[in-house]
Amino acid sequence: MKRRKFLKNSTLTTAGIFFTPFLASSKEINTKTKPSSATNFPIAICTWNFGNATAKAWEVLNANGNSLDAVQQGVMVEEANINNQTVGVGGRPDRDGNVTLDACIMDKEGNCGAVAYLQNIASPVSVARKVMEETPHVMLVGKGAEQFAYEKGFKKINLLTEKSKKQWLEWRKKSEYKPIINIENHDTIGMLAIDKDGDISGACTTSGMAYKIGGRVGDSPIIGAGLFVDNEIGAATATGVGEEVIRTVGSFLIVELMRQGKTPQQACEEGVKRIMAKNKDKTDFQIGFIAINKKGETGSYCIHPGFTYRSYSQKGHYNIPSDSYIKR
Ligand code: ASP
Repeated sequence: MKRRKFLKNSTLTTAGIFFTPFLASSKEINTKTKPSSATNFPIAICTWNFGNATAKAWEVLNANGNSLDAVQQGVMVEEANINNQTVGVGGRPDRDGNVTLDACIMDKEGNCGAVAYLQNIASPVSVARKVMEETPHVMLVGKGAEQFAYEKGFKKINLLTEKSKKQWLEWRKKSEYKPIINIENHDTIGMLAIDKDGDISGACTTSGMAYKIGGRVGDSPIIGAGLFVDNEIGAATATGVGEEVIRTVGSFLIVELMRQGKTPQQACEEGVKRIMAKNKDKTDFQIGFIAINKKGETGSYCIHPGFTYRSYSQKGHYNIPSDSYIKR
């Protein structure tokens, strides 16, 4: 379902939280893996209402797959979705009409790989995994990342769809860089998963802010900002205006707050509050964090109402609206 339509059709409870089961896959809840009562894993969660992505991750986890494969394959669903104009193929371009992709991935050992400003390649998260597993480096960018992808067998493709091109040509008439809160020009997918062994991984992938300056890279491929995993503690990932997430090293901060004893929910709230403390006069932007701890407890928080996250575990498949710093 389109997120905007979903939000229009939704009613929030007074607590600002309600759950929407993802009906299409309810039969998949007959799981093969059984969590103990004190824990809730396997589990996969992701930013926004990307139910097909969490369904894919769950398929991997439920077949006893590991969390690294689950997050990679989960976010790849959205990278391949041409109707999603914020991730992968079909993503909105920069102000010059170039689609440039950013992604990263991190495993239970703290290994990580990232690509930024990558063009002409459909699955940046898969290239990021190759960087992690087959190079001594963490991040490759631009032409070097593209060349590396070809060497690893990735095919060159045109990422700019007719729809995104048309909208960009329309945008060029005014050429105003003005991200609109909760409108689909910033819907990065960040995904966190815990497998049956209790091991955590994460991935994050995006086409970045629509109509950005050529060369701009946001938080999404930056380990610690757009994503962080510490298998002893938990993991966090972000969506929204990446510049603000970088300034607070948001995902790392949230994992460290969990280390100090905060729940995922409390840690996400503190993460957003740190951003707002640096933006006393500016509130016209959106950020959403999601987090998970070692037990499989989850949390989320955002600046403006409208952000939701998907959760798929033994308990079911839900779209969960996030509580927000600014209330309705
Ligand atoms: N965080 C992404 C970026 O700044 C965009 C988004 O999540 O909407 O590139």
